[in-house]
Amino acid sequence: MSEVIRDYHYFGSCRMCGCQQQMLVNIDDMNRWNSQGVYIQDAMPYLTVGEREFLISETCEPCFDKMFADCE
Ligand SMILES: [Zn+2]
Repeated sequence: MSEVIRDYHYFGSCRMCGCQQQMLVNIDDMNRWNSQGVYIQDAMPYLTVGEREFLISETCEPCFDKMFADCE
């Protein structure tokens, strides 16, 4: 296993609550996920579940949890 170089600082805001999120990723991994259809968990396994969820849905973890809580 080679060490992942996280050279890209990703910034975004949650579309539910507007809070700012940031995370460090590898730009090549980001591109593989974005443009080559690689599953996010395969492209960036080093991210937490919440971080991946934010990249996919632009929803922060607390808001994501809330959405599911409201469904029950
Ligand atoms: Zn939020």
